[in-house]
Amino acid sequence: MSFSYVIKPFINPLVKIKHLFYTIAMDVFEKIKLTALNAPFEGAEDIGTPHKTPDCPHDLDQLKARFPVTQAHLTGGQTIPLLKTMQTSVCERDCYYCCFRSGRDTPRASLTPDELATAVVRLTQAGVAKGLFLSSGLAGGCVRAQDRLIATAEILRNKYHYGEYIHLKIMPGAEKDQVFRSMQLADRVSINLEGPNEVSLNRLAPHKSFFKELLAPLQMIEDIRSSQPPYLAWKQSWPSSCTQFVVGAVGETDLDLLQTTAQLRQNFNITRAYYSNFSPVADTPFEHLAPANPWRQHRLYQAFFLLRDYQFNFEELPFSSSGNLNIEKDPKLLWAERHLDHQPVEINTADYAQLLKIPGIGPISAKKILQARTYGIIRDINVLQQMGIFTNRAAKFILLDGRRPPYQAALFS
Ligand code: SF4
Repeated sequence: MSFSYVIKPFINPLVKIKHLFYTIAMDVFEKIKLTALNAPFEGAEDIGTPHKTPDCPHDLDQLKARFPVTQAHLTGGQTIPLLKTMQTSVCERDCYYCCFRSGRDTPRASLTPDELATAVVRLTQAGVAKGLFLSSGLAGGCVRAQDRLIATAEILRNKYHYGEYIHLKIMPGAEKDQVFRSMQLADRVSINLEGPNEVSLNRLAPHKSFFKELLAPLQMIEDIRSSQPPYLAWKQSWPSSCTQFVVGAVGETDLDLLQTTAQLRQNFNITRAYYSNFSPVADTPFEHLAPANPWRQHRLYQAFFLLRDYQFNFEELPFSSSGNLNIEKDPKLLWAERHLDHQPVEINTADYAQLLKIPGIGPISAKKILQARTYGIIRDINVLQQMGIFTNRAAKFILLDGRRPPYQAALFS
């Protein structure tokens, strides 16, 4: 059956699904399942929970469940079903935490660029996925691995005119022309630092070089963005970049992770850092380690958003003497208790940055307050509530025309 026949729009979705199964060789399905990225160590776009696998595909939801498709929230608020897979799960490296490390006895598969690109287009046509997150094991060297990722993206963009979202991984040690080409094809590129510094990385993945293989390509991305005209990229703008850390396996502190994050934002303009909680994988050197506490990950993300969206400096983050955030309490609330308890913020005169420091007030509600002030003095806490502000959280730290509003202590942080 020709490809052109397959991509014809189908009227009946069930017919569409049936055709999908007839027209993709089953070994490609199986390969995609074997190269599925496990959620644990690959954060990408606020990935949701992977679907469970049912026995047989009776409808579109069940069909989706047969593939490594996750709900991804993109910048701008759009949510898409993202196919999250690898070009190959064969890898010559031996990162201590990874299920695909060399020598580990696990089923593996590789897809050619053409196989993978064709499958992605057909899954898109069937409504199963609406975007691709593509990574790879390192087989035959970093440069070859990156070449195969680029080849897949080129086939998608150039042969199939694929207009959906693509997140391409940059392999450790990729060359600058490969980084450039990847950026021309993708909506987002990323390099996993894994550890916040060389010492942590050596404990996690002793054969990766923190500076030469990981930081250098991040630098290349930013160099390209700042020196090359954006019309060279497929959407006339350069892709965003992000990185990821494995949290909780080798004793790194939250301070280590967030300090590196702050530096990466400042120097390399990364949009996002992902903090992937360590979870032990059988038959790896870390199989006996305890999984990381999910609350730690939650507090790290809260602190990250304070740095990115709430104008906090790294120095303002409330670390304990151990260098970690308090697992029990929202870092913004903790900061406010230390700094605003005796110096509440006057809502009618505070600037945008001061408003953002108040618990319960975010970027949108801070702008609403500034707007509302142009109409008069705010004296009633209900006015703030109507703006969507969590007044139970905010009340303790504010003044309304010189007076403290009444408040009830929040039960949860
Ligand atoms: S390079 Fe390391 S993390 Fe990546 S697939 Fe290979 S073993 Fe896993």
